[in-house]
Amino acid sequence: MQFYSTNSPDVKVSLKEAVLRGLASDKGLFMPEVIPHLDASFFGDIQNKSLPEIGFEVLKPFFCPDIPEETFKAIVEDALNFPIPTVPVSKNIYSLELFHGPTLAFKDVGARFMARILSYFVQDQEKEINILVATSGDTGSAVANGFFEVPGINVFVLYPKGLVSQVQEKQFTTLGKNITSIEVDGTFDDCQRMVKEAFLDQELNDQLVLTSANSINLARLLPQSVYYHHAYAQLKKAGIKEDVVFCVPSGNFGNLTAGLVAREMGLPVKKFIAATNINDIVPKYLVTGEYVPAPSKSTIANAMDVGDPSNFVRIMDLYDADHSLVSARVEGLSYTDDEIRVGIKRVDDSCRYVMDPHGATAFMALENKLKSGEMGVFLETAHPAKFPEVVETVIGRAVVVPERLQAFMKGVPQSSRLSANLKELKAFLLK
Ligand SMILES: *Cc1c(COP(=O)(O)O)cnc(C)c1O
Repeated sequence: MQFYSTNSPDVKVSLKEAVLRGLASDKGLFMPEVIPHLDASFFGDIQNKSLPEIGFEVLKPFFCPDIPEETFKAIVEDALNFPIPTVPVSKNIYSLELFHGPTLAFKDVGARFMARILSYFVQDQEKEINILVATSGDTGSAVANGFFEVPGINVFVLYPKGLVSQVQEKQFTTLGKNITSIEVDGTFDDCQRMVKEAFLDQELNDQLVLTSANSINLARLLPQSVYYHHAYAQLKKAGIKEDVVFCVPSGNFGNLTAGLVAREMGLPVKKFIAATNINDIVPKYLVTGEYVPAPSKSTIANAMDVGDPSNFVRIMDLYDADHSLVSARVEGLSYTDDEIRVGIKRVDDSCRYVMDPHGATAFMALENKLKSGEMGVFLETAHPAKFPEVVETVIGRAVVVPERLQAFMKGVPQSSRLSANLKELKAFLLK
């Protein structure tokens, strides 16, 4: 399959080029030239298929034969090596628990896929590939763990000194091997600027192969379609016959876009609901038809503090910027921090289910929009133990910390310290 840029649909590139570049040279985002339709027979017995089996069938049309089928099958099995269960929370609401991966957040899925796909494409290259990533927390840990011990790839994580939570910091500074952590004397914006400058620096690029692991990369986005199919399979297996509504806590809208792709592939979905915090650019668009980006505001669901969601252009591309088509498929709702806290508390009290602040927005939006005769699934994108300050205060007791998070906490952090300028970063990378 070939891929085009949202800015110039006539220019097509190969899978390899789309994955290695991430962003098209005209600054557009890559899209698959067609969204393949899966056979009715696939959905007919989807309830009997395992997560990797579903993953292979759903993704094969995009990734094969550019990647040979047998190789791709192994990549899928290796990337999806943890469960993604659909768990009942209330009478008609299920939680799709996306936090059973190494860093306890859904970004593990995309990061693990992208690492293995990139590794496949660079295996015949002499030079190792160097991933530079600036992080305020979550992205760094998902990318570092996704790429950990993947051959041919080195990862450099830049993070602002003192501004990343201890749990998050431990998740990338304790790995070692092909993961190098760099503590920058500055802010997240400084880290991001240094990474951008490094990508533009001629001398650096002459000597090193530099790439980003940005979330706009298709190798991160498309694999996220898989768990929508998997959720449907689990509901079907449980004998549920109602139409399914998916509710997605959204920031850059990659997760929701992947859901829309799943729907266009034939997955029976009644509707999508986009839940946001007060950064409600898309919910407003869905009502008014006007897209008005704004500076992001910080909230307790901080992975969704986005004022100009990068994947919005992909949603526009999927539906030819037709507001009536988009709003027929997606509804939106937004929540304040106080409402999120109340939601976490209420669901803990009434259902004995502890949610993280992102998942909580989705639960509430789903509950609000669900009609009788519909079954709802919300995406629980992170484990509540990743947000102890918020969650434990609200529910009044400690959250049980999963073992793999505890293991990170016991690790010994290692990082190098740099000033916030390109000169130091350059010297560091070249030595
Ligand atoms: C990144 C993130 C989101 C937002 O996902 P998008 O694909 O950017 O919309 C939601 N919840 C958590 C926990 C995240 O880390």
